[in-house]
Amino acid sequence: MLGSPSAWDTARIQLENAVRHLGLDDGLHDLLRMPRRAITVSVPLMRDDGHLLVLSGYRVQHNLARGPAKGGIRFHPSTDLDEVKALAMWMTWKCALMGIPYGGAKGGIAVDPRLLSLSERERMTRRYAAELVPLIGPEKDIPAPDVGTDEQTMAWIMDTYSTHTGYTAPGVVTGKPLSIGGSAGRAGATSRGVQLVAFAALAEHGLDPYDVTVAVQGFGKVGALAAQYLHDAGARIVAVSDVKGGVYNPQGLNPAALLRRVQRGGDTVVGHPGTDTITNAELLELDVDLLVPAALEGVITATNADRIKARMIVEGANGPISADADPILDGNGVVVVPDILANGGGVAVSYFEWVQDIQAYFWTEDQVNDRLCDIMKRAYGEVSALATERGVSLRAAAHIIGVARVADAHRTRGLYP
Ligand code: GLU
Repeated sequence: MLGSPSAWDTARIQLENAVRHLGLDDGLHDLLRMPRRAITVSVPLMRDDGHLLVLSGYRVQHNLARGPAKGGIRFHPSTDLDEVKALAMWMTWKCALMGIPYGGAKGGIAVDPRLLSLSERERMTRRYAAELVPLIGPEKDIPAPDVGTDEQTMAWIMDTYSTHTGYTAPGVVTGKPLSIGGSAGRAGATSRGVQLVAFAALAEHGLDPYDVTVAVQGFGKVGALAAQYLHDAGARIVAVSDVKGGVYNPQGLNPAALLRRVQRGGDTVVGHPGTDTITNAELLELDVDLLVPAALEGVITATNADRIKARMIVEGANGPISADADPILDGNGVVVVPDILANGGGVAVSYFEWVQDIQAYFWTEDQVNDRLCDIMKRAYGEVSALATERGVSLRAAAHIIGVARVADAHRTRGLYP
């Protein structure tokens, strides 16, 4: 392994650790590590200017032992098969930990969607979805948004799938617009879960949640609303950032004003009145109580882990801390609330959306949020109790619970043939 561990290296190291704690044998370990199905598809896209661009797309169904595969689709230039394998594996443990009846999956296209027009994005998404038609479906594999994709992307996938099958199948994707079977509360669910878990963890570790300073890296779908909900709940947001850089004000930022700025077409938070400009690297190393990395994986590695001053890190993103950074943070007493717990609110409400679609009976936003709150508190309580009981980190405990549930499903189902 040269340099910092990749997402796939990190995911395998985390699994190894859980397997060791659970005393699972090598065969079961192999079964839990290897993706059940992984496909690569070519996605030919006719650009608006008439030239043909052929992109690489992926879908990995990591594990199906507990139910249909579930997980997002990302459009990002650095997406490749290994990254998607790691993200799919994390979905498996996340769904098991959240106690929802799914396996894990992830998909993506190696592309920068910001460089495409709206109609190019639509053609690319529909062609990719058409390639996945044999694999996905409400009882087989249910995609959702992730980095670089949104409600509109899900609407195109739902429409493409439904057109191919000949009937409307809202349950084939989650994170859809409300008008076609989306769920109230889905858009903010990941961020709401981050806030709930962060407050539970802060209180448990002797930090007053109403008197903490917070830095949020990534001001996208997860980070922007996490900043908003943490602020609304009483925390002081002192820094946020996006791909272009960050803004800092030790007196506190107003996330709603920053959100309005980006929603009105401002392409970055940088330059917001009353703030100092900082880099993403500086944001990660700020002296704050709580750091929420909510962008991409591998932003905290052995290279910068020693410089992290936050007392607690709550992982809004998947895999923002690579495996070589975890022991350093542990050694420095930084409490890490791991991704599969911290951002599990998104897939929890995806599950609620799928349940509503299947029943064709929809819940109010309060019902969704109350049930989300129950799931997050239960999952946090289970992880925290096991971490204390075994004397391990919250990450190790979360993986032990998730992996044990999947291993148990394999044992109970037995092996075919
Ligand atoms: N992409 C999100 C995640 O990483 C949501 C997945 C889903 O709702 O299926 O958890």
